[in-house]
Amino acid sequence: MSDLSVPGTAGVAGVSGAPGVPGVAAAPGISIRQLTKTYGRFRALHRVDMEVAPGSFLALFGPNGAGKSTLLGIIAGLVRPSRGQVFLDGEEITKDRDENLGKRIGALSYQTYLYDELTVRENLRFYGKLFGVEDREERIGSLLRTVGMEARSESPVRTLSRGMRQRVALARALLHDPDILLLDEPYSGLDQDALVMLKTVLAARNKTILLVTHDLVRGLESADRVAILNRGRLVFEAESSELSTADFEQTYRDHAV
Ligand code: ADP
Repeated sequence: MSDLSVPGTAGVAGVSGAPGVPGVAAAPGISIRQLTKTYGRFRALHRVDMEVAPGSFLALFGPNGAGKSTLLGIIAGLVRPSRGQVFLDGEEITKDRDENLGKRIGALSYQTYLYDELTVRENLRFYGKLFGVEDREERIGSLLRTVGMEARSESPVRTLSRGMRQRVALARALLHDPDILLLDEPYSGLDQDALVMLKTVLAARNKTILLVTHDLVRGLESADRVAILNRGRLVFEAESSELSTADFEQTYRDHAV
């Protein structure tokens, strides 16, 4: 069974919480202002303005090539914007990037950043050291239970299925208890058990979450807000609670052309 207490709520090192305000998350808000990214003459993002409120969960949708990964890459510090700004809690991160910022962000993308020849546990130990995770072995054990990979913890990553790797990559993204989660297609390859596990992890809501997915139904049911990016422009935004699945499917068809 999963240890559902892990993502930031178990009293482990690095748990975020506003000092003196029990139960109130200190996860930062993300503000994106007029963000533009060009590759040569091609504009991948065009003057995108977007807000992810502190501790909230935004699901971002859009067809292939819409600019979703570019947007996540800019927030994660992997891609340089051409113009515009990104702020975390009002602090601009697109200008002088604090090297500790990486410790606040947990990212999951198609690229798992796992080392094939290392075992699952060795991978998590490596990243745990890199991020200065305290009580590392306990944290790793706890996360392995959460993602259901205890039984394969001593297997080299190269021997794992795509879905198993995705589970380990999720554990890696959560390892340092980041207060921001950037998730690019996290559902891919996951089986039913893992999908339920991920839903539970995301429902803990002690983090600011930006999720990119093609799964309209899962995204809508999990997130507080939904947004659609099309050809580098933000073309739709709404509260999830304002939309039925059928409405949103229609909205997506109307906007993502
Ligand atoms: P999405 O994640 O929505 O599928 P991307 O952000 O990956 O979209 O890509 C947006 C557009 O930018 C695509 O047309 C893609 O080909 C282009 N692009 C992304 N990265 C690069 C790059 N390094 N060089 C040139 N073009 C790129």
